[in-house]
Amino acid sequence: MKPTFIKRAILPVILVLLISTLLSACGGRSQPALVNGKINIAVSFYPLYDFASKIGGDHVNVVNLVPAGVEPHDWSPKSRDIQNLTKSDLFVYLGAGFEGWVKDTLGSLKKDSKTVVVEASRGIELIPAMEEEHGDEHGHDEKKEEGKDAHGHDHGNTDPHVWLSPLNAKQLALNIKDALIQVDGVHKADYEANFKKLADRLDQLDGKYKSELAKVSKKDIVVTHQSFGYLAKAYGLNQKAIMSLAPDAEPTSKDMKNILQFIKDNQVKYIFFEELVSDKLAKTLAKDAGVETLVLSPVEGLTEEQATKGDDYVSLMENNLNNLIKALQ
Ligand SMILES: [Zn+2]
Repeated sequence: MKPTFIKRAILPVILVLLISTLLSACGGRSQPALVNGKINIAVSFYPLYDFASKIGGDHVNVVNLVPAGVEPHDWSPKSRDIQNLTKSDLFVYLGAGFEGWVKDTLGSLKKDSKTVVVEASRGIELIPAMEEEHGDEHGHDEKKEEGKDAHGHDHGNTDPHVWLSPLNAKQLALNIKDALIQVDGVHKADYEANFKKLADRLDQLDGKYKSELAKVSKKDIVVTHQSFGYLAKAYGLNQKAIMSLAPDAEPTSKDMKNILQFIKDNQVKYIFFEELVSDKLAKTLAKDAGVETLVLSPVEGLTEEQATKGDDYVSLMENNLNNLIKALQ
């Protein structure tokens, strides 16, 4: 379905919904995802959901377009998602090339939509995508000329995983807070206060990372997909990725040999894997290398279990820190 077609098909529906919202005070929820009487915010993946929810508090209803348990690299919007997006007061996406689908989607929305659109990574200094030689042989890079990989992951030449440094996360939160005030200035004081609380937690998290990782003897982390560049840069670690920026790209046997050699040379004790992607590769590699595996979450989404447990960005990052300390002793 072409975006223009979708727009033409849903616009009358939107008008009807808007009018019925205006006419009825109780405003039944025709679209379960959106809530009348609140500032509706659509976000493109989990950390933005977490921050927007915390900053917006009771005034907002946040819809994460990517459901729990789904890896956002593999996701693109369905017509239902575009409906939610069009009807939201605010749409927050990461940018930095993370959402390959966002440009086309926004292009088709622009004219009629009143949705305020925010690129949350604005103001963050991006780092180059490929700092290492590996990965040059697989499909990922062949398609790079178009600026997209097999998942439509439009990262161009920069690494989009900015949120994995807590101080960058604070910048994301700041941009979300400013956008919320733009949309709903009446509740400015609440948004400022909620932001301050979140920013303090992120500063504390950064402080913990700094002090704890200064004490560990090892600095090399072997991870599955190359998403920890900003974290590594912030805390003086060295990231060695089995795969490139997309989490389920296939490494070549040469990649595997390289990694095994790296593990041996640097006495690496653990290979990190992530929960939203199969751990088969990490387990196989760990077995071959005679080392163990541990979780290092790229916080790209929650598992169903984490969502139920009430995990959030900070708790996942604290768990990451514990595992890093364990691996780098
Ligand atoms: Zn990623």
